[in-house]
Amino acid sequence: MSAILELDQISRRFGGIAAVQDLSFGVQPGRITSLIGGNGAGKTTVFNLITGYLAPDAGSIRFRGERIDGQPPHKIARTGISRSFQELRLFNRLTSLDNVQAAVPHQKGESILRAIWGGQTLRDEAQVTQARAHQILDDLVILHQVDTLAEQLSYGQQKLLTLGRLVAAKGDLLLLDEPTSGLSPAMVDDFCARMKALVALGCTILLIEHNVEIVMRLSDWVIVLHQGTKIAEGTPDEVRRNESVMHTYLGLSA
Ligand code: ATP
Repeated sequence: MSAILELDQISRRFGGIAAVQDLSFGVQPGRITSLIGGNGAGKTTVFNLITGYLAPDAGSIRFRGERIDGQPPHKIARTGISRSFQELRLFNRLTSLDNVQAAVPHQKGESILRAIWGGQTLRDEAQVTQARAHQILDDLVILHQVDTLAEQLSYGQQKLLTLGRLVAAKGDLLLLDEPTSGLSPAMVDDFCARMKALVALGCTILLIEHNVEIVMRLSDWVIVLHQGTKIAEGTPDEVRRNESVMHTYLGLSA
């Protein structure tokens, strides 16, 4: 299977600091790949490079075989890469359904003239968008909250809604930064199950996660960064068995 995302010898410096150095890895479609490493390992910089918030000093990034490095964030987002941030970024005074619908890209009704003259076509498009939003809320098992204002949802449901907005934004590859932070252990379990369900429906996930236990449980593939370089990668079991990685770099007993 060929990788949906490929980083090839990517480097990025900030003054004297090599935040990412000569980094190469691939993300397989329909899988959950996790980036782990201590503080300052370069994880956020990798996300910023993939999403166009930073340009690499050297190397290439390909999404579905096409070069994307150096392109602006809005262009990269249109290719099918969606990114979550640590803050939720929801429309609090809109319902769950409206939040998801608002994330669907290129809605032709956004043009005022088309909104006035669009007629039947526009109504058809609105129905398709609404059906899609319903489907996403159903996939995430929050369909029963379709008419609830975002601000009235529990924190866990708000996080799921954020995930729904990423999927609605045509996110085939979801870059999730600490998606389970702030959730109770029971909600973490629930959230992990929904992420797995999204992958089963065809999404691909690249995850930054500090909680190694969650990483090991959830991931198909794990990439370990240290001071901007890749020091190990493999299945969760392979990484867990790598004593020097677990002990020296992650400070954990294997
Ligand atoms: P954390 O888990 O603490 O968020 P991280 O693995 O995401 O860390 P990065 O935030 O990518 O690591 O940082 C990698 C290195 O690059 C660090 O030494 C950091 O100080 C440096 N760095 C990141 N962004 C900038 C910036 N905009 N300007 C200067 N240095 C930066």
